[in-house]
Amino acid sequence: MKYFLAIIGGGPAGYTAAEMASKAGKDVVLFEQNALGGTCLNVGCIPTKSLLYGAKQYYNATHAQKYGVSAENVAFDFQAMQKRKTIVVRKLVAGIKQRLNNAHCTVVNGAATVLPSAEGVEEGRLISCNGETYEAENLMICTGSTNFVPPIPGIKDNPNVWDSTDALAAAELPKSIIIVGGGVIGMEFATLYHELGVAVTVIEAMDTILPNLDQAVVQILLDKYRKTEINILTSTKVEEIRNEGEQSVKVKANGEWYEAQKVLVSVGRRANLQGLEALSGLEMNRGAIVVDEFMKTSLPNVYACGDVTGKIMLAHVASRQAEVAVGRMLKQIPLQRIAYNAIPSVVYTNPEIASVGLSEQQVRDFYTEMEGAAGLEKAGGVETFYEVHSLPMTFSGRFMAENDGETGLCKMIVDSRNKTVLGVHCIGNPCSEFIAAAGFAVRNGYTLPEFRQVVFPHPTVSEILHEVIG
Ligand code: NAD
Repeated sequence: MKYFLAIIGGGPAGYTAAEMASKAGKDVVLFEQNALGGTCLNVGCIPTKSLLYGAKQYYNATHAQKYGVSAENVAFDFQAMQKRKTIVVRKLVAGIKQRLNNAHCTVVNGAATVLPSAEGVEEGRLISCNGETYEAENLMICTGSTNFVPPIPGIKDNPNVWDSTDALAAAELPKSIIIVGGGVIGMEFATLYHELGVAVTVIEAMDTILPNLDQAVVQILLDKYRKTEINILTSTKVEEIRNEGEQSVKVKANGEWYEAQKVLVSVGRRANLQGLEALSGLEMNRGAIVVDEFMKTSLPNVYACGDVTGKIMLAHVASRQAEVAVGRMLKQIPLQRIAYNAIPSVVYTNPEIASVGLSEQQVRDFYTEMEGAAGLEKAGGVETFYEVHSLPMTFSGRFMAENDGETGLCKMIVDSRNKTVLGVHCIGNPCSEFIAAAGFAVRNGYTLPEFRQVVFPHPTVSEILHEVIG
């Protein structure tokens, strides 16, 4: 049988594409070597959020006095939290399986390998899995990414050094942990461990944590976390890791030694390319597959979506890329594209950070490059090209009612010539739940007067998006 579409990888990109193409009446085969759902469902977003929610419940219970509630003998059971996490993951994976079954998609459990092109068959049309050969008109590579292991002496095959997958699987909490990398994974795990009473040190090579986010928002998190005694070291490079017995590990950074029970390394992820070796004509850039705006690779009828493209490593980007790719494959009119300028992102620290669109620094960089030194001088400085509207979250009544002792921030970047909303950056719970509203504004190019007409329900923290416009 010749399939219309063969998909390698059953994460958010792969299962979205499989369901969409199958529902359109096409014969689809999806290969997955582990569980359906990929990193996000099995060892990423969902298990992390399950554990973080447990930690937040415990933290809130032990900090409830400010709301007039006292609770004695509050305790947590980490193994019970882990058990609940596993149940949540299992249910969601079963849900994906059911959806693919309902759509009549063929799912093959095994590691797929693309075969070299045969006579009369173009590159990327033959796939081998579990000893069988499959032929397809189109191939979609959704193989995802794995944790990057930097070349630090003592890091490799060290049982005291975890990646995020090891940390999620651990049966017991460490008493202390050093987290190498203050990016998204690093700061989410710092939050989890801190709220469960683990002594946390974060070591970040750059001069700030979460370097890709708007720094006004990051500063608020930094100030809070430093006060709560999470030890955050920036501009600090790890030079060596050395075990001190079975339960202790030392990390040398900027010449100083730091000690903990475990080390978690979260310094980025790299594309998974195993099984694709036969695709000799596949154009690559810095270890990731190059794709066009419809997720087409340099090979005809070969598409790639998700982390393997090295674009933005987020599950919701992967699934949107899959929709665009399948739409193109099915020759659907109008052809859709991805609005990369309006991808919301969230960091599940406490408080949460949520953003969409350009940061102030990105707007400054853009105009500095476009205008050049002479243009900036003539205009009176780069600041004349954009406006910043910002307010503490405490301007929201609901935020005040529910976030005692927190200030938060909502910052909106607006183009000063046409008043278009370029980006929104928030810190404060639960901003992850309303950043999509700001995403609509950025995606649709709303101006401030247009966005001002949007009515937000009262009392909700989302009203801050209305208040910040002024
Ligand atoms: P990241 O790129 O977000 O952060 C890595 C951090 O490590 C950076 O701050 C970098 O400066 C630092 N670093 C690099 N080398 C270092 C070294 N030798 N010593 C110290 N610091 C070093 O990567 P991540 O946190 O590993 O996350 C991987 C991907 O997964 C990201 O693209 C992220 O967006 C995604 N992710 C998203 C979510 C979410 O949406 N909530 C959650 C987890 C992961």
